[in-house]
Amino acid sequence: MPTETFEFQVEARQLLQLMIHSVYSNKDVFLRELVSNASDALDKLRLAALRDDTLDADVSDLHIELEIDKDARTLTVRDNGIGMSYDEVGQLIGTIANSGTAEFLRELREAQDTAGAEGLIGQFGVGFYSGFMVADEVTLLTRRAGEQRGTRWTSRGEGTYTLDAVDDAPQGTSVTLHLKPADPDNQLHDYTSVWTIKEIVKRYSDFITWPIRLVGEAGEDDEAAGPETLNSMKALWARSRDEVSDEEYHELYKHISHDWRDPLETIQLQAEGTFEYQALLFVPSHAPHDLFNQNFKRGLQLYVKRVFIMDDCEELLPPYLRFVKGVVDAQDLSLNVSREILQQDRHIRMMQRRLTKKVLSSVKSMMTGDAERYATFWREFGAVLKEGLVTDPDNRDAVLAVTSFATTHGDDGTVTLKQYVERMPDGQDDIYYITGESRESIDNSPHMEAFRERGIEVLLLTDPVDEVWVDAVGEYEGKRLRSITKGEIDLAARGDDTSEDDREKRAEEYAGLLGWMRERLEEDIKEVRLSTRLTVSPACLVADANDLTPALENMYRAMGQEVPRTKRILELNPDHVLVKGLNEAYGEREDRSDLSETAELLYSLAVLAEGGRPKDPARFVQLMADRLERTL
Ligand code: ADP
Repeated sequence: MPTETFEFQVEARQLLQLMIHSVYSNKDVFLRELVSNASDALDKLRLAALRDDTLDADVSDLHIELEIDKDARTLTVRDNGIGMSYDEVGQLIGTIANSGTAEFLRELREAQDTAGAEGLIGQFGVGFYSGFMVADEVTLLTRRAGEQRGTRWTSRGEGTYTLDAVDDAPQGTSVTLHLKPADPDNQLHDYTSVWTIKEIVKRYSDFITWPIRLVGEAGEDDEAAGPETLNSMKALWARSRDEVSDEEYHELYKHISHDWRDPLETIQLQAEGTFEYQALLFVPSHAPHDLFNQNFKRGLQLYVKRVFIMDDCEELLPPYLRFVKGVVDAQDLSLNVSREILQQDRHIRMMQRRLTKKVLSSVKSMMTGDAERYATFWREFGAVLKEGLVTDPDNRDAVLAVTSFATTHGDDGTVTLKQYVERMPDGQDDIYYITGESRESIDNSPHMEAFRERGIEVLLLTDPVDEVWVDAVGEYEGKRLRSITKGEIDLAARGDDTSEDDREKRAEEYAGLLGWMRERLEEDIKEVRLSTRLTVSPACLVADANDLTPALENMYRAMGQEVPRTKRILELNPDHVLVKGLNEAYGEREDRSDLSETAELLYSLAVLAEGGRPKDPARFVQLMADRLERTL
């Protein structure tokens, strides 16, 4: 087969340009990326050989080699792992599949300036291409385990790459970097220096579970004459916390998560006894962009007795903790364990329970010990964690304990249920909340009026999941969770200055109007009544205590479920001039056709006030324009 030349995919070309003209100051990380890929390739081969004993592959001495050639100014990273076929090289190396990288590019386009770009490179793994930060040409030679022929990939990163079929390639992959000219002012980053390479491996890749060896003539540093293993290969999860530095933990996190940022929290657990296992879990510092996608890849890495078994093991944590990354190493599982077996395994279920509690208790310590860190956690992952209030009744109290809410009160505007209940004034029996799409729509909602005026605290819930969990949870420490847009709200007990007699009198005065309006608006509402929640607006819509809210109704429809339309209740503000006037006119007039239109308008105003849309906007505009005209 002759040499073939291909063009890089557009995104890949952009990324390469960025690497070649790299503004990123920490170029050393290219080695971590290549070693990380090599390590993954060795894991994959070991597993493939375990599953398929007919695979014609050599697994006797799996390792990574680093080779420096000072004269040629090359650095080679070599593994004898799974390798790639001719087609795979084109697919995997010529295009960008990693969703994190795609997100990186999108953000990069938005950042524009170079300072922004530098910050971004620091946040995302860019894998293999990072080699172009230090090399002006890269050659990759690979042969897939079990196949005869190998492939050579070469590129200067400038738009095209070439592929050759090669007959005598060794199993696995070697990546040779033709290093850019040395910078005499920057000896520390001379990648032909044995000292530099050793230092970088120690810093970024010490925990890699395969030996990383330095081979070949190692220039002036004669101590590296024979193969020397550079990494300790110690499993960090099996060591006690005081033996391991934060940096070491963070490097492991970056290896398994493909995130270049430090994690927010490191959680270690060592379970002893009949079923022994170790876990090292990380809470990232930023939520990935696809956390709410249906096919978000979740799960931990599973090891059995230090041997990597699988990525994305979903059984170890519930879906609402899907943002947690990490490693679990079990002593007593079979190396052949499959996903099917895991789903049924009693021990795995026990592990899940224990790990869940451990993560929740870590969040709790964050909350009590480090308010700022907890605030970051909550901002990034609160909306996901709250799913647990619905899906994990066993841990509901623990989840609720670390949940916080935006609120109308308090200095920093957030509150826990515990705090809310503690500062509830005497006479208040319920925990009040309002749900809505955004803070603004809630703040301006007419439902808030009486609460604001009387200084009653209301929780402001704007995540989609809030609509669901409040019903599932129902109460906290014997106090009901009550939506201020549902049911009758009786604020009289707390400083409503209207006396019982006054209210009865008023009810009588309005009885005729309310009944008449109910008939007029029958198609849309089930009841018209006087409101205790309005102080400024003339009218608002509320639901019965057990009705679905409009948001929930929409959610069910969006999920394809049939939901009957729930009729709501129209509440009128008897202190509003418009309502008062309407009542007087109702008492005096024989011909009520004009009033009928006013009733319709009042209803439409209530719909608009909560961010809804009048049923017949054209008619609404016409009626409104007509009224306005009469004021001229
Ligand atoms: P990432 O590692 O984030 O997936 P890379 O650009 O580093 O992105 O690599 C792309 C893909 O190329 C890898 O997912 C892997 O399938 C393949 N690959 C890279 N290096 C090797 C290697 N040394 N051996 C086998 N496959 C490799």
